[in-house]
Amino acid sequence: MTNKEYADILLPGVKHTWEEYEKMYPERNLPEGAMVTRYAPSPTGFVHIGALESSFFDKKFAKQSGGVCYLRIEDTDQERSIENGISSIIESLKSFNITFDEGPISETEEVGNYGPYIQTKRADIYRAYAKRLIEEDKAYASFLSKEELEKIREEQMKSKQRIGIYGRYAKDRNLSKEEVIERINNGEKFIIRIKSPGSFFNKIKVTDLVKGTMEMPENDIDEVIIKSDGIPTYHFASVIDDHLMHTTHVIRGDEWLSSLPKHIQLNEMLGFKPPKYVHYAPLTKNDNGTIRKLSKRKDPEAAVSYFTEAGVPREAIMLYLATVANSNFEGWLDQNPNGNIDDFTFDFKKIPSSSGTLFDLPKLYNISKNYISRLTKEEVYNRTLDYASKYDEELKELLLKYPDYSKEIFNIEREQKKPRKDYEKFSDVKGQIWYMYDELFNKEDKSYEWQSITDKDEIKNILNSYIEIYSESDDKETWFNKIKEVCDKLGYASDMKAYKENPDNFKGSVADVSTVIRVAVTTKSQTPDLYEILRILGKEKVKERFNLL
Ligand code: GLU
Repeated sequence: MTNKEYADILLPGVKHTWEEYEKMYPERNLPEGAMVTRYAPSPTGFVHIGALESSFFDKKFAKQSGGVCYLRIEDTDQERSIENGISSIIESLKSFNITFDEGPISETEEVGNYGPYIQTKRADIYRAYAKRLIEEDKAYASFLSKEELEKIREEQMKSKQRIGIYGRYAKDRNLSKEEVIERINNGEKFIIRIKSPGSFFNKIKVTDLVKGTMEMPENDIDEVIIKSDGIPTYHFASVIDDHLMHTTHVIRGDEWLSSLPKHIQLNEMLGFKPPKYVHYAPLTKNDNGTIRKLSKRKDPEAAVSYFTEAGVPREAIMLYLATVANSNFEGWLDQNPNGNIDDFTFDFKKIPSSSGTLFDLPKLYNISKNYISRLTKEEVYNRTLDYASKYDEELKELLLKYPDYSKEIFNIEREQKKPRKDYEKFSDVKGQIWYMYDELFNKEDKSYEWQSITDKDEIKNILNSYIEIYSESDDKETWFNKIKEVCDKLGYASDMKAYKENPDNFKGSVADVSTVIRVAVTTKSQTPDLYEILRILGKEKVKERFNLL
């Protein structure tokens, strides 16, 4: 029996040969230096902040080189796949402006000439290449049962050996064709493994564009390539897809670094030119003094939804990830505070190669605060409304009921050279402006933050004197002069210098008087510009609030 006939028995019904597949996936017609990258998630339904980082890298390097970034769904582990996993990845990334040149665009549709881009739809392709390896005697049928595998594993653990099927453990390697066929005819289940030509004691040189050239032990494990249900394993599918889809750069987290010898070997066995590899350090967390990888199980902030639900603008998250991606980005951003990530050219050499990058929440929030401070009042209004539409019905209704009034509020100390940085995230907004809406002010159980003046009668005295002369049409100077007028009348220093020289001559200063007014209308001792707050509220409301006391 020829090897070809034998391969046909092991993997029957394969529609095309590998040579035919090679022709179906011709070279891409791209300019010199254009990168082809892929974002290759498993559809497990959870968009991790690291996934955002990963897709950002893929997209960015392809785009800046005039290349192609495609989305490939690695769903060969069906147990981990969830319903609507693909559309949830696509939608989440789209909300961060990450879209792909090729790949699935919904659960059922896709674009691009190198598809299908969902691995479970490519079963015939992997089988064609597995047949090739069988024909070339580089792969074999293995009948090791679950129990046998478990026994081998236990033995290896006990004697502190490497885990896996290699050397003397690879006992089905030398079964004759006849024996294999007989066992198959007897209904025994089998999988296909490579016949690894490597030796663990050989060191191979591998080059990574972030980590440099490293020595790693050659792979000697007879890796599974096709499982008993005919589905390929991740390693096999990924190497074939990267080849057929003409990926030039595989960019991924360094948890995959240890798989590199396997991938390099698979490329060699299949006669492929390997892509370039880029492994970047994971985001980490300081957990009571121990630095560990950000964990999807333990850390709520590992989920992108943690930030979107808090109303952190997606642009700020991307700016933060860009500071992680390239160590010189932050300096650039300081120089170009209004800069767009697209104006910055990323460099593999500037990706941190160390063991990890601390996921720095205060830094992220600081970036976010700066970002929101530069938005116009219209933008803050629209984005707060967007946020409230999902998460705060009460705020949404107020914003819709009073659009112009709300924009005036958002404009306090905004759209100026040094804008006020009062919001880190859109969920902060309500807590900072609630007192501007009677609907919220009147229902709150209020606690007034009176400062140096706490005597009720004195407070009333100040407010009564003030409301008599206050006019909402006053300009800022006139407004301030009127507060001073109240000071002079009631024995407070209208001039801070005079107060500092002779504090005993006065009941207090102009600062104390304006604080009384501030607290009376807002309950807060610290607020943005009081003149603006009073002007926007209008005399009637100011009076009403004075009367509440
Ligand atoms: N499917 C793998 C994952 O979920 C991708 C690894 C790679 O990029 O090669 O992370």
